[in-house]
Amino acid sequence: MNIEEYKNVWVFIETEHGKVKNVGLELLNQGKILAKANNEKVIGVVIGRDMNDVVKSVISYGADEVILVEGEEYKDYSTDGYTNVMNKLVKKYKPSVILIGATINGRDLGPRLACRLQTGLTADCTGLDIDEASRAIAWTRPAFGGNLMATILCSDTRPQIGTVRPGVFKKIHPDESKSANVIKEEIHTPADEIRTKLIDFIKIAGEEGVKLEEAEIIVSGGRGLGKAENFSILKELADVLGAAVGSSRAAVDAGWISPLQQVGQTGKTVGPKIYIACGISGAVQHLAGMSSSDIIIAINKDPDAPIFNIADYAIVGDLFEVIPALTQQIREYQNS
Ligand SMILES: Cc1cc2nc3c(=O)[nH]c(=O)nc-3n(C[C@H](O)[C@H](O)[C@H](O)COP(=O)(O)OP(=O)(O)OC[C@H]3O[C@@H](n4cnc5c(N)ncnc54)[C@H](O)[C@@H]3O)c2cc1C
Repeated sequence: MNIEEYKNVWVFIETEHGKVKNVGLELLNQGKILAKANNEKVIGVVIGRDMNDVVKSVISYGADEVILVEGEEYKDYSTDGYTNVMNKLVKKYKPSVILIGATINGRDLGPRLACRLQTGLTADCTGLDIDEASRAIAWTRPAFGGNLMATILCSDTRPQIGTVRPGVFKKIHPDESKSANVIKEEIHTPADEIRTKLIDFIKIAGEEGVKLEEAEIIVSGGRGLGKAENFSILKELADVLGAAVGSSRAAVDAGWISPLQQVGQTGKTVGPKIYIACGISGAVQHLAGMSSSDIIIAINKDPDAPIFNIADYAIVGDLFEVIPALTQQIREYQNS
């Protein structure tokens, strides 16, 4: 393999029910920084059906170019269909780097593709840089339960593939006036080559409302809430703010809320505009998932709680008094 032949940074644009997911847009921005450093382009790869709006937003969020593959068989994600498309595209265009969001589907696609192409994959990265000496991507990811940060290079094969945690990087402010070249490729996958059949989507109970990964504001609760029923006061605050509800692991372990809502090292990494931590002490494993939030507001009755070390606004008080009062004030403000 002549690695010199491989150029440009690709971002796999994941969609769900025809809508673009945030993680692809976040990766476009970081991908652009990496591409620029090597005088290359960042290219969004869109696979699906009726992807016009998705292509528009991929361009407005910074892609220099888009590769588009549409087909009825790609309406929903499938390992076989999407791997087939990516594999063929890679062979034709020879990208140097492929960034994939470390979502459930992204973590499924990445390894499948890396095996097919016989190249290296670093999973669940939280840091992306360029190694000065080799100009290869330096993929950084937590290992051994977060006790060690490993930086990994893929030196001898291309493309270099990595899945990257949603919420780690920020998307840019979209520029609707931007235009970019869209390359349409006709690649079809025969029905009998797609071995999984999607029968139905079933919503998981507790997953209604705003999703953590997509939320601009997150209201998060911990052991300080005391019991499951008390999450209702958080939900009220979240509703007035249009926010998602998150939680610490202690609240998940206690069975008060779905594991899908857990923020932290073994949960989700989030980077919203505002993160409101209610009754959360601020253990390092929790901070690992939310410390890149733009503004952190903490409500805790213990003035020495470590969460206050990273909070931009600190409210020392009983959350059962503070949260309803806050909800009430915001409601009044919105109605005035
Ligand atoms: C390998 C590993 C991975 C982990 N992964 C994660 C992870 O992904 N996410 C995560 O969150 N944790 C994780 N943990 C657990 C983590 O170490 C903490 O145990 C957990 O974050 C604590 O949750 P908490 O802050 O809700 O509870 P606590 O630490 O018990 O804190 C409760 C807080 O509520 C406050 N409080 C109590 N009552 C009130 C009240 N009425 N009003 C206001 N404040 C009140 C208390 O002062 C206290 O600060 C992990 C641990 C390990 C070992």
